[in-house]
Amino acid sequence: MDQRTTLHSLPQAPREFGFWLDGAWEGGRPLFERASPGHGVAVTLTPKCTVADLDAAVAAARRAFEDRGWAGLSGAERAAVLLRAAEILRRRRDEIAYWEVLENGKPIAQARGEIDHCIACFEVGAGAARLLHGDSFNSLGDGLFGMVLREPVGVVGLITPWNFPFLILCERVPFILASGCTMVVKPSEVTSATSLMLGEVLAEAGLPKGVYNVVTGSGRTIGQALTEHPDVDMLSFTGSTGVGRSVVHAAADSNFKKLGLELGGKNPIIVFADADLEDAADGAAFGISFNTGQCCVSSSRLIVDRRVAAEFEAILAAKMKRIVVGDPLDEATQVGAITTDAQNQTILSYIDKGKAEGAKVLTGGAAIELGRGSYIAPTLFSGVTPDMAIARDEIFGPVLSSFTFNTTDEAIRLANDTVYGLAASVWSKNIDTALTVSRRVRAGRFWVNCIMAGGPEMPLGGFKQSGWGREAGVYGVEEYTQVKSVHVEIGKRSHWIK
Ligand code: NAP
Repeated sequence: MDQRTTLHSLPQAPREFGFWLDGAWEGGRPLFERASPGHGVAVTLTPKCTVADLDAAVAAARRAFEDRGWAGLSGAERAAVLLRAAEILRRRRDEIAYWEVLENGKPIAQARGEIDHCIACFEVGAGAARLLHGDSFNSLGDGLFGMVLREPVGVVGLITPWNFPFLILCERVPFILASGCTMVVKPSEVTSATSLMLGEVLAEAGLPKGVYNVVTGSGRTIGQALTEHPDVDMLSFTGSTGVGRSVVHAAADSNFKKLGLELGGKNPIIVFADADLEDAADGAAFGISFNTGQCCVSSSRLIVDRRVAAEFEAILAAKMKRIVVGDPLDEATQVGAITTDAQNQTILSYIDKGKAEGAKVLTGGAAIELGRGSYIAPTLFSGVTPDMAIARDEIFGPVLSSFTFNTTDEAIRLANDTVYGLAASVWSKNIDTALTVSRRVRAGRFWVNCIMAGGPEMPLGGFKQSGWGREAGVYGVEEYTQVKSVHVEIGKRSHWIK
């Protein structure tokens, strides 16, 4: 970083990065210029890599996998590298948070909290590296013993989106490393800086060269080539359901690589009349406004008990009006800028559709002009019906659609009335209600009287069109392994040829 730059002001010139190949920086490619979404000022320059660069990275990852320099270590040795990485991230926390803010537009205080979560991911990954184990079958009779081994899948391709560039990366990388796999990362072109910085962190932590590689460029070129690559054994893709579908086709048309898919969501937040309405309203405001609603797990459908709907919407609207939207580098900001111009247009067009379809704006409903950057006021629509676009589509912005229900069954039916199944939340002080709803709503993550709570110990992933597989924790490490059954004969063979 430019020494004259403070972590609360814009850099004086865009920071130039190489890409991370086989344990070192590689340069000399044309550069992609990224402007800060909060300020419209150029902040980073990252390489537009070629497919040949991707091939070189996959080859490096393959060498690093086959030479056993990583996969052949003990879990304890891999854990030591992950713990050192956690310490280095702790030291570089504010710097990494700063570059995350500049490329993504999220508030600086939030970004620091995310880096803390990333540090925890490395610590949990270290524990998982030591605890990963298979199984045995002592039930095959005296003459045969069965062992189930977990082996690393091999070379993993990792494609990540722009909404949580470092957090999503770190909810995967430590667990991939814990399994003994090697990898090639393709971050979103608009938010590549912190994925590149992790290369330096891991090298300092002692990760062997070639285990972690980052190739930057657009999804249509580098992303597509990674999904089609015949020497990639598994692909972990986090992004939209539309691109996820093309990833499935690419895997089928190439080498049937194993897939992990973390896709979109249209997540319900269900509020019963017996809930603490102040708590639930705070949760709902946070659930739709955190990261400007650009979260896969944003609670974008409010399903509220008709008996308290008007009262609850009034409490919620009043809270949403008080959310501080502003410059991402300001410590007081709670909601920052929309990350891309295209996403800004998408969100505003959905707000227009909601109004045109007859839903009522209780708060927000428009862009906020701050002189530079793109900002949208947290928006609450009331009187939404299930056929409206704002009820069905993932908007990926701070737009909450409110429905009402009369019975628990109706609340569950409304919650499940979506092609997605990523996350859900229920608010009730009745344990029977809370547990019944948690068990019957089809979603991979569930929160009771809380929202977006938890740590990297817990698995994450979706039902239905929200994806396949689980990331994080021991479940996450297991995704990056293959199971092998080993049969061992004990004693003399009973002969086939008499
Ligand atoms: P996206 O357009 O699907 O892009 C995701 C990643 O895929 C980016 O790195 C993108 O690269 C790359 N990509 C684009 N086209 C590709 C192709 N044809 N082949 C291979 N890779 C390609 O999604 P996004 O707009 O960045 O992110 C928003 C979406 O991600 C939302 O739907 C959200 O719900 C979902 N998401 C899900 C989770 C989860 O855990 N379930 C978490 C976060 C986000 P470029 O950006 O460089 O083009």
